[in-house]
Parts: sequence; C-alpha cells; structure tokens
Amino acid sequence: MSKFWSETVKGITPYVPGEQPGARKVIKLNTNENPYPPSDQVLDAMKAAVSGRLKLYPDPECAGLRQAAADYYGLPIENIFAGNGSDEILAFCFKAFFNPGETIVFPDITYSFYEVYARLFEISYEKIPLDEHFDIPLESFFGPNGGVLLANPNAPTGKFTPVDRIRQILEHNLDKVVIIDEAYIDFGGESCVPLIPDYPNLLVVHTFSKSRSLAGLRIGLALGQSELIEGLNRVKNSINSYTLDAIAQVGGEQSLRDTATFERNVRRIIETREHTVSALRELQFEVVDSRANFIFATHPGIPAADLFDALRQRDIIVRYFAKPRIDNYLRISIGTDEEMEALCRALEDIVLKK
Ligand code: PMP
Repeated sequence: MSKFWSETVKGITPYVPGEQPGARKVIKLNTNENPYPPSDQVLDAMKAAVSGRLKLYPDPECAGLRQAAADYYGLPIENIFAGNGSDEILAFCFKAFFNPGETIVFPDITYSFYEVYARLFEISYEKIPLDEHFDIPLESFFGPNGGVLLANPNAPTGKFTPVDRIRQILEHNLDKVVIIDEAYIDFGGESCVPLIPDYPNLLVVHTFSKSRSLAGLRIGLALGQSELIEGLNRVKNSINSYTLDAIAQVGGEQSLRDTATFERNVRRIIETREHTVSALRELQFEVVDSRANFIFATHPGIPAADLFDALRQRDIIVRYFAKPRIDNYLRISIGTDEEMEALCRALEDIVLKK
C-alpha cells in the first residue's frame, strides 16, 4: 500500500490474467486463445501497414475496420464501435452507461473483470447467484437495477443463455443498458446482434481474441444503436482517441473480410471440443455443456487443484480458479487435436495413478 495511491486504487483488487509462459515449450490451454494462426490475407495487410503507415497517427474513427464490421454484421457503420480489446470497451461502458448511485447486476460466476471495473469506476453492483446448473435465474435480472451485464456464453462455465431469455431481460430493462458480452458466441451460440434494431438499450460486445485468432492485436467491437455508440465515443475521446493502432486496424479489417478462414477454424474448434468432452466423460469427468472454445470440468475423485498441478508437471497449463463453488473445476481451452489428445492422455495417466 502506498501513500501516493488514490483511495480508489487502495480499495481495488486488480484482475490477474492467465499465465503467459513465454519461450518455455508448453501446451497452453489457459487463456482461451485460438490454436490456429491468422490467415495470410490478415498478415499481408499488417505487413503493408508496418512498412507504410507508422509515422502517422492511426485513423481515430477506425473507418476501414468499422465498415468491414458493418458489412459483416449487416448493420450501419454508426452502430459499430471499435476498441483495444473488448476489455477496454467493457471498461468504457462502465463510464458511459452506469451511474454510481444505481446498482448494476451480473452473475456471481462470470468474467471476473466485471467486478474489478465496478470497483474501479465506483459503480455499486449485485452479484446474482447462478442456479445449480450454472444457468442464470432470469427474473433476478428484471430490475429495477442500474444496468445488466451478462457474458453469453458465460465464462468460465461455457453455458449459453438462449436469445429469447435475453429478449425478456431487455424488455424488463427498457430504461437501462443491457450489455451482452459475446466473446465466445462464434463457437455455437446464437448472437443477440439481430435484436439491435428493436432494442435501443442493447449493447453487444465482441472480440477478435478468440474466434479470429488475434488475441495479440487487441481488437474488440461494440454493436448497438448509434445513441449507445455515441456514448462510448464520448468516453473514448475523453481518454485516448487512438486506442487502436494502425496495424491492428488493417489486420482486423482483413479478418472480417476473410470469412473462409474464420469459419474453417471455428468449425475445427467445435469438433475438437465435442471430441474432448466425450473423452473426458469417459474418464468420469463431469463436463458442463459448452458453447465456447473452452470446457469446464470436474472429477469426482481428484481435487481440481491437484489435477492442475499434475498437468503443470507435464507442461500442460490449464486454468484453475480458487473461488467458492468453482474451486473444484478446471477450465480448459480447446487447442489443436494433437494438443487435446496429449491432454486426455495426461489426464488418463493422472486418473489411473490415483
Ligand atoms: N469477455 C470475456 C467473457 C472474456 O473471457 C474475455 C477474455 N478474457 C474478454 C471479454 C476480453 O477479451 P479481449 O481479449 O477482447 O479483451
């Protein structure tokens, strides 16, 4: 604790990202990255930007990227906001849409950054417990509240909430912003984006870090009616107009234009996920139904913390959360088929030795 820190900074517990092992050769299944690289189309555009554009500031409007997103989603460009990863966009949302005196709601098991932002931006919040199947208790999100924040599919469970249930939440919160964080939507969920024309209170947040293989570039999008996008622009242009660099902007634009690579990689990851789920169930794991590029699993006979350590000794890194209710689960990102086979072999070995 430093005497120089503000009272806010003294009071927060910052988010701890998953380990990045650097040059050490491991099977890395801990931060839900895509195991497949971005396409040549994306890389070539970025190389051209490196040699041509770096002495100038990037386009603060991100027009090329936003137009590609508008074409991809079938929305007007005024409905698109681009940010430095969806984390940045979510942070801006707290400043743009929530008021300190009003209590926002999000599930008690969800992306832990939501609570960190609420504390940093001094927004009061209530965490709504999930039911025994890790589903959201719908009525608890009907308000009155100061706003709603939901990850769909949820993290770290991978559970998906059907769109008709989200629509009910929107209907009951017409005066408040409902943010649906669809970081993992491309892996088999149904997106809320088609609801945008009907609901001025809906903001959908997407990322290029998972289904688009670009975690290293930091690109996120917010999709919503122009009133909400304008709110985000007000915050952005009061902090830093150039949050997305020139290389990321062209890489992101080409990723949206290259639908074939995107669709192929997503399909492979879904197939690998289903295969891995079956293999883990054969080893007696209970695996939550996932619509994400990760699975959430528990073993009845071996504590998750021990499994985590045993995998680590075999140079396989997964994610373990020492938190109530989920401290006996592992969250395992879906890698290549070879990586997941190595994971299953290691788990079989660990389970048999017990
Ligand atoms: N939302 C959820 C639910 C996530 O799991 C993540 C990734 N950790 C993010 C947002 C942030 O993604 P980005 O890389 O775009 O900041």
